[in-house]
Amino acid sequence: MLREDGPPPAPASPGAPATGGTPSAPAAPTPSPTGPAAPSAPAPPAPGTVAPAWLGKRPLPETADGFGEIQATPRVLRNRRFTLPDTLPMLPGDGFASHVVSPAPADVIARSTWVEGCPVSASDLAWVQLAFRGFDGARHTGELLVNADVAQDMVKVFRQLWRAKFPLEEMRVTRRDELDAAPTGDGNNTSAFVCRPSVGSTHFSQHAYGLAVDVNQFQNPYTKGDLVLPELASAYIDRTNVRPGMILTGGPVIRAFASVGWEWGGYWNSLKDRHHFSLNNR
Ligand SMILES: [Zn+2]
Repeated sequence: MLREDGPPPAPASPGAPATGGTPSAPAAPTPSPTGPAAPSAPAPPAPGTVAPAWLGKRPLPETADGFGEIQATPRVLRNRRFTLPDTLPMLPGDGFASHVVSPAPADVIARSTWVEGCPVSASDLAWVQLAFRGFDGARHTGELLVNADVAQDMVKVFRQLWRAKFPLEEMRVTRRDELDAAPTGDGNNTSAFVCRPSVGSTHFSQHAYGLAVDVNQFQNPYTKGDLVLPELASAYIDRTNVRPGMILTGGPVIRAFASVGWEWGGYWNSLKDRHHFSLNNR
């Protein structure tokens, strides 16, 4: 396993899940889509293309606010473009594809954060499978759990991201154990429904209604004062250092969501939620 630099490993935490997916098996080295042609002799993978073994497994010291301690971005995450193992069977075809199941199947709800008391009923959520491009440029299949009212709009959005060749690291339904786990500050899941309050609030987030989507959280961190989320993503606060997966003003992601009337949290003034899109701009 590659030993990457960065903070020393935290003590083993058997209860902590890998919030960043299951990166224990590095994908075969793949040339970057923008890089030179593969040489005939195997070259070591470029820094940032292979997920480190510790991804999602090192809980950060917790602050009084319940967040993790903000730490410098480990080098391997500073130009992050991992390809994680697929978690769903591939949708048929070789171009963009989608499959909407509404209401969402019970087994999908069961592995989500939905519980009695969430502000949307399980029968009002739809399961949307979507083809997306990974950072390897290849076709992958992901999933969103969203409010059934916006399922077709999300298909439109992700069709545009596919056409724009915008890369995503992973797109899967957020689990309850991830919500309860100590923060590791290195998650990067693209996700919609999460039954939780807004950051720093007691009110339900738009995610709890299935009416918000976070895209590539790590490349597009939330910042408010000194707070950075994910906590290890400070290297991405500099938006002039453009790297793959970043959401840029004038770029395809904001345009795609705007085409169905969704707004971007990166335009907010009191804080910047650069990975967040929502229907009501909250
Ligand atoms: Zn969000």
